[in-house]
Amino acid sequence: MNVLVINCGSSTIKYQLINTDDQQALAAGSVERIGMADAVLSHQPQGREKVRVTGEILDHIQAIEYTLAILLSPQYGVIRDTSEIDAVGHRVVHGGEKFSGSVILTDEVMAQIRECIELAPLHNPHNVRGIEACQRLMPNVPEVAVFDTAFHQTMPDYAYMYALPWKLYERHAIRRYGFHGTSHGWVAARTAELLGKPISSLKMVTCHLGNGCSIAAVDGGKSVDTSMGFTPLEGLVMGTRSGDIDPAIILHVIGKEDLNVHEATALLNKHSGMLGLSGVSGDMREIEAQVEAGDTKAKLALRVYCYRIRKYIAAYAGAMGGLDTIVFTAGVGENSSLVRRLSCEGLTFMGVELDDTLNGIRSKTGRVISTNTSKVKVVVMPTNEELAIALETARLVAPLRG
Ligand code: AMP
Repeated sequence: MNVLVINCGSSTIKYQLINTDDQQALAAGSVERIGMADAVLSHQPQGREKVRVTGEILDHIQAIEYTLAILLSPQYGVIRDTSEIDAVGHRVVHGGEKFSGSVILTDEVMAQIRECIELAPLHNPHNVRGIEACQRLMPNVPEVAVFDTAFHQTMPDYAYMYALPWKLYERHAIRRYGFHGTSHGWVAARTAELLGKPISSLKMVTCHLGNGCSIAAVDGGKSVDTSMGFTPLEGLVMGTRSGDIDPAIILHVIGKEDLNVHEATALLNKHSGMLGLSGVSGDMREIEAQVEAGDTKAKLALRVYCYRIRKYIAAYAGAMGGLDTIVFTAGVGENSSLVRRLSCEGLTFMGVELDDTLNGIRSKTGRVISTNTSKVKVVVMPTNEELAIALETARLVAPLRG
């Protein structure tokens, strides 16, 4: 089945056309700067040269129109007719408490996704826009929503409730939801396969370390806790997001720095994390280069980042009453041996023994990086959210095809 995977942001759309039978992407690309005169469409057909087109793209509908046009173009395309697109899978950031799994999009589901907009005002409106555009341009193609929050809906109430007045939960649905669920679920399942063990028998901590970072306690294949909360701001230190802080700090700083809500939100989401601490960058490659060059703030930022991960790993082992496997994934988790080493440092008391040689090997495949004798297996597992969305979409759409 050919599934078009769509991930819509405010001014960006990322897409992949994936053949779910051989799990290969026929083409991948993005449209950036939607709404501007100098929007950019980058398109990479499999095994051929990348194409870049610049021009005015007014809105998400037009962006998807151009995406379809290039997928179909005689020169750069990979299909001859839209009928070769069997289904569309959309990444939807927030499914609230309504969605604990992926769903086929119907008018009723769309109404429920719109109700979740107030929980994720920065993300869901764009996801909805992308869905509407595809519905308009491909009215006969079935569409599926895959939610970032769904995997974490198995968390018990004592893990997802905040110690705030009940009325905030009742009136405004304030609770922990967690994000990156597609990635945590994907790497947990692939890691169980790699280790040759049933996922139901494993207590795992999965560390998704990308621009956004989150960590999850996955017990028997189910998420039982995760570091991101009501929004993707809580938890680990991220590229530009603070992660956990004393909530009173923000109340204090709003007064001291005379900030409005918009400015305070930007402070926590865009100017904090590794960027705020190091003063250099939110990008881990640049941080590592500065550490190498002896920059003391970058060194401290890296320590804070890894110390937070280490604390969460130990906390989640406690939450699950044991630990069999630690999984590292996403840009930093898959590529930074230094971050993996510092994050596992001091966890030998729990049976975590990293093999420095295995940890240092660069590879794009899933692999074990702990010693043979390590009680806890440490694994690097590439994430592939697009493929996970494509396979989920194919699974839901298959029965419709008879
Ligand atoms: P993602 O959001 O998964 O694309 O991850 C982006 C993050 O991964 C950025 O902070 C990058 O600096 C980081 N990253 C990518 N490659 C490397 C690398 N080779 N070493 C360290 N960090 C990396």
